Amino acid sequence: MKDVKLADLPLRDDLRGRTPYGAPQLDVAVRLNTNENPYPPPPALVDDVTRSIAVVARDLHRYPDRDAVDLRADLAAYISQSAGFSVSGADVWAANGSNEILQEILQAFGGPGRVALGFEPSYSMHPIIAAGTRTEWAPTPRRPDFSLDVDQAMAILRDRQPDLTFVTSPNNPTGQSVPLDDLRELVSGAPGMVVVDEAYAEFSSRPSAVSLLDEYADKLIVTRTMSKAFAFAGGRLGYLIAAPAVVDALQLVRLPYHLSVLTQAAARAALRHADATLASVAQLVAERERVVAALAGMGFTVVPSDANFVLFGPFSPDAWQAYLDRGVLIRDVGIKGHLRVTIGAPDENDAFLAASKEIIG
Ligand code: PMP
Repeated sequence: MKDVKLADLPLRDDLRGRTPYGAPQLDVAVRLNTNENPYPPPPALVDDVTRSIAVVARDLHRYPDRDAVDLRADLAAYISQSAGFSVSGADVWAANGSNEILQEILQAFGGPGRVALGFEPSYSMHPIIAAGTRTEWAPTPRRPDFSLDVDQAMAILRDRQPDLTFVTSPNNPTGQSVPLDDLRELVSGAPGMVVVDEAYAEFSSRPSAVSLLDEYADKLIVTRTMSKAFAFAGGRLGYLIAAPAVVDALQLVRLPYHLSVLTQAAARAALRHADATLASVAQLVAERERVVAALAGMGFTVVPSDANFVLFGPFSPDAWQAYLDRGVLIRDVGIKGHLRVTIGAPDENDAFLAASKEIIG
């Protein structure tokens, strides 16, 4: 084939020079860089997925249920029982990972001439999806300790009047979650739609923003994923909880039949085993506390975390490579002097801590 370069293609001008999302996928013994659950699904779950797939495979010549009604009812039951706020399948929408949910939200409520605001540092895909949907991105700084200054945030919201405001809680990559009273203030004061990205909610002891939906049904969207606590990153299933009208809005931009019968069946099987999978959350939280204490004991500064990862430092620029040289893959999230480590299984955390000890010297 003729050698064609990206620069030769008639790419949209506003995408030229941009960098795609790219957490390295390297074949390393200890992989603690993408906030996955380190525990593989239990055998009973694997059997259930296999049996469920075998059943739906007989109908692979047919399109899937476009509205994923049964899966959304199952997700609603999980949220009602865990977030202490009753929702139904009509209040839930599901897609291939919460990234696809976020993209649909920006397609429907963002777009050319519209502004989305986020408190940075935060999840790197928010501005990337904004760019893909031609939504102007308004980055707003957090405090130097990465916490969210609500008074300052309110002043900026009044000034910028964004169409969409993103609040990530617990925040990736810094780990803190936003207290419910602060969330309520932000949601009530924001001029447009507010997306609370709760990808790591199960690891936090703070109440979910879901409980605010009653008050703010016209503007609040809570996004969740099965990629983290549910140990289902490979299954690709994210969802939102919002008023049915928000779900109606997303119907205008979603691709028909976006969730395959295989995905729907596998996700429903995984939800049937939620108790077993979510048991890993307590273990990971205990490991997080052990890792935080050990890092602090070595002299590192560790940002308080409510998630399954911690941001820590200080580091010289070559530290990420120093970990990799010791067989430990962690994440350089682009915050000067800091690296982020996902909490793994105890032996992985031990390997990470041993490397940390050598690196700090
Ligand atoms: N939101 C946040 C804050 C995340 O960290 C991630 C994954 N890294 C996602 C959303 C997307 O996850 P997924 O598409 O796997 O659901």
